[in-house]
Amino acid sequence: MESDFKDLRAKAIEALSTKKNIDNKQWGDDVKRLIDELSIHQIELEYQNEELIRAQSEIQKKSDEYADLFDNAPVGHLILDRKHIIIRANNTFAALLLMEIDDIIGKSIEQFISPLFTDTFHHYFKLLQKGEPSAQVDLKMHSYRRGYIYVRLDGTSQKNACFHRIAVTDIHLQKQLEDRLRKETEKLIKSETMFRQVVERSTEVFYYQRINTKILDYISPACKEVFGYSQDEFYGMTTGDIIAIILPSYREEYVNLVNLILEAEIKGQTNIIREFEICTKTGEVKWIRGTYSMLRDSQDQPYQIIASLHDISSDKKYENLLISAKERAEERDMQKSRFLANMSHEIRNPLNAIIGFSDIMKDEFIEKKDDENLNYVEIIQKNGYDLLSMINDLIDISKIEADQASVKLSSFDIMQMMKDTYNTFVLAAREKGLKLIFANNTDEKSVMITSDKDKIRSCINNLVKNSIKYTNKGSVTFGISLEKHGLLRFHVSDTGIGISKDKINVIFDRFSQVNITASEEGVGLGLSIVKCFIDMLGGTIKVSSEIGKGSTFEFEVAR
Ligand code: ADP
Repeated sequence: MESDFKDLRAKAIEALSTKKNIDNKQWGDDVKRLIDELSIHQIELEYQNEELIRAQSEIQKKSDEYADLFDNAPVGHLILDRKHIIIRANNTFAALLLMEIDDIIGKSIEQFISPLFTDTFHHYFKLLQKGEPSAQVDLKMHSYRRGYIYVRLDGTSQKNACFHRIAVTDIHLQKQLEDRLRKETEKLIKSETMFRQVVERSTEVFYYQRINTKILDYISPACKEVFGYSQDEFYGMTTGDIIAIILPSYREEYVNLVNLILEAEIKGQTNIIREFEICTKTGEVKWIRGTYSMLRDSQDQPYQIIASLHDISSDKKYENLLISAKERAEERDMQKSRFLANMSHEIRNPLNAIIGFSDIMKDEFIEKKDDENLNYVEIIQKNGYDLLSMINDLIDISKIEADQASVKLSSFDIMQMMKDTYNTFVLAAREKGLKLIFANNTDEKSVMITSDKDKIRSCINNLVKNSIKYTNKGSVTFGISLEKHGLLRFHVSDTGIGISKDKINVIFDRFSQVNITASEEGVGLGLSIVKCFIDMLGGTIKVSSEIGKGSTFEFEVAR
């Protein structure tokens, strides 16, 4: 300060010396000194005045800066009096409430606080007045158009002060995020608890094992029930100890588990299932079914095996019982079918004798013109033929069931077989008033083919017999055609009752009778035998039908 004054004086003396053009000869030395002194003082004052003006503008600038800082601070600022009236508020606070400053000043802050938070604010304001350090509170204020928003009040505590400065920060987004996070966390905890309960109460054993260190990260309590070892005992086991629990023949697969899971993943499977045997702590051998999958880390690298193990010992016991029961049942079934085939054979011989002798008797009665007895003998003969046809079917199906049906190839004349079929069925057709038409598309008198003669005859007879059986008026047309690629096609069409679309797929099943009333004479075996034989001969069979209009059956076999 002293040196500033000296500098000022030196500057003033120098300035005066440049101004010394005044005529001062008439004054005495004292007066001259006084004048000099006054002039210096005058100049000093001028300098001081300039300095003052500069300082004043500096102060104004600073004051403007501070006002700007207050008004546009990144957080809202308020000055409240003791009665919570807003004395001053900055632009940021006004922007927070989306209001004009003039509409805020002079109002109680409580007007802007959610009624739910009034008590919270009063409590907070008391702390401010008591001069508590770090007085801070989160509450909701009403923002025009945004509704109630979360803000944080940060006040400067001054004991018994007349005014309180409060910073107001918009923490709405932060609160919303916190809220969402809290809810998500709660949800997570809830589902985690739920899953934990499921896992811990399940009779299945769940475990997680790290693939690189083989550390068992978790095993569920059911391990005690299944393996006889507690969770803690498992956690204390080495890999060798765990492998020793598995019976030797399954160990290699266990050791190779990671590769097996990864190979399955490549094929699009999410897990693999393996069955193996273990030896429990008490020495009991159990069957286990394990389902294994891979968990990956954040870099998508295989990290942990997750497995669930299920004790299937009792299932296995029943499975074995079932397998042996099935084998026994199949064996008995086979024996039954063999017996049936033999019995049918035995019945066929006397039946053939009855039919043969009734033929002789028929001739005799025709000769004697004994119509009454002729009628009886014809009834015997017709029923005999029906019985024979049924027994033939039974023999065929029994042989198929007993796995005794085999293909016996021979060369025979198919045209001759067609003629025999015509002769066999022409009378039966005529009796029903039907026309039996033999329609070949070949002029050959004889066509030799190589196939299984008995099976082909059985198929043709069954199909023609059915067509006559299920036709009440009109005709039944059958014949053969020689196709390309060495195939023979047989076809039979009728103008009968037809088969509905929903039934057409089941007619080849054993014992299926689509139209029970219409098929009183059959047992539902004919078509299943035909299908079986055609399959054995490597052929195909087709049917097309319309209810009330008729049906067409066709099969193709190699010739
Ligand atoms: P079924 O001894 O009853 O004739 P099939 O196995 O020969 O046994 O035939 C099965 C069923 O298919 C028959 O019950 C009948 O309803 C139906 N079906 C077979 N052929 C014909 C046909 N030509 N017209 C109408 N329905 C037929």
